[in-house]
Amino acid sequence: MLKIRPFNIRIYLLFAFSTSLSILLYLQPPDWMAAIPWSGVQVLRAVLLFLALYLLFTRLFDMPLHTKILLGMLLGGLAGFFFHGAVSEIKPVGTAFIRLIQMIVVPLVLASLITGTASLGDIKKMKRIGSKTLMYYLASTAIAITIGLFLANLIQPGSGMDPEVQARLLENYSGQAGEKLAVVPTHLSPVETFLNIIPKNPFSALAGASMLQVIFFAIFTGIALTLIPREKSAPVITFFDGLNDAMIKIVVVVIEIAPYGVFALIADAVGSFGIDILLSLLKYTIVTIIGLFMMIFLYPIVVRMFSGIPYMEFLRGVREAQLIAFSTSSSGATLPVTMEVCEKNLKVSNQVASFVLPLGATVNMDGTALYQGVASVFIAQVYGIPLDIGAQLTIVLTATLASIGTAAAPGVGMLMLVIVLQQVGIPLEGIALILAVDRLLDMFRTTVNVTSDATAAVIVAATENQLGIEPEKD
Ligand code: ASP
Repeated sequence: MLKIRPFNIRIYLLFAFSTSLSILLYLQPPDWMAAIPWSGVQVLRAVLLFLALYLLFTRLFDMPLHTKILLGMLLGGLAGFFFHGAVSEIKPVGTAFIRLIQMIVVPLVLASLITGTASLGDIKKMKRIGSKTLMYYLASTAIAITIGLFLANLIQPGSGMDPEVQARLLENYSGQAGEKLAVVPTHLSPVETFLNIIPKNPFSALAGASMLQVIFFAIFTGIALTLIPREKSAPVITFFDGLNDAMIKIVVVVIEIAPYGVFALIADAVGSFGIDILLSLLKYTIVTIIGLFMMIFLYPIVVRMFSGIPYMEFLRGVREAQLIAFSTSSSGATLPVTMEVCEKNLKVSNQVASFVLPLGATVNMDGTALYQGVASVFIAQVYGIPLDIGAQLTIVLTATLASIGTAAAPGVGMLMLVIVLQQVGIPLEGIALILAVDRLLDMFRTTVNVTSDATAAVIVAATENQLGIEPEKD
């Protein structure tokens, strides 16, 4: 797993030099540095830090990509913990990484859903695969919220919260909460929400990355392609197939910088967590994370039941996607990697993967739904609002719908929580109570979201005899 490369004294010296000097400059920056933003020293210490990482990953050891990513996360966590806010200057490296994969998401979803749907061939098969996929998505989401509600009712993370802590949280975060509330479209009726899935202009849907609209258009186009004469549809399908492959190739290249990107992202995230705030929300945070872990253990069991793939083999197969999801907090940005691991490691056919996964990244969010369940009960408990069984069922229903409408991007789950709170009459300002730990929980819930998508792909493939298929190309 981790092989030491042949000893080279110059590399070791350079590594020791860059590591120690960058640590020194982070821990004890010269006094005058504070006055000059982006001073030479700041650039120097960041460059030295990445040089040290580069040497570690490629010149000192020989290790597979997922080990590098894991190590990048761990080291990023340490850097954030010890260097605090100082590491925020390396965040652009992480942002560049996320943007590079985000760049291909819209064309990838369009191309893969068009070719995926068209390759299903006949309408009967489409209906079968489509309904299996949607059934899994709805069922798994409902199970996830139920687990969240069960845990929150059992452990009661919000009862008996110190009124002083409550007042402090509300005071510190009400400004940010207000900003978030302002952008939630709470005025849309359910009918309008559904009508909104139909794009008036698919090109503006693509340009605005309105994913549900893009999905609608792509699936419809895919179906239409199977209904027109073969000689007309063939070139279109070949075009989108080529576009799809090109997008995946970009991922293969970009993923090489993932260890550095996740290092920067995790360092920045950990550097900006307030430990004291985390402690005051510890019970809520732990209940949510326990629930999310229960899901992570549930998926391999379901996968094994349907496909016979051993638990560890499944987890090992999706590991890379989970690591990227954890560090980017975006199932959209992780989608290309999820597709890659499902086809390459879990041997899901391209036909199934390219239909199930782009859809799942947008509509299937078990982690988000579970979190919304726990968060609603937590806020209600803090405010002393009893939630009867009717209210809890309303939460199951609205959180399922809200998680479908949640965009696959960081922090959106919290915005959609507002809709859930509104339905059951919980004060919306309550989101100020949980804002402080949202970034952390987002990392865990996105990991669950992505694992659930991969589970769906394996199950659908297994029941369609589309598993164990070697990807055609590299
Ligand atoms: N970040 C999540 C995702 O991309 C959505 C959320 O829960 O905020 O899957």
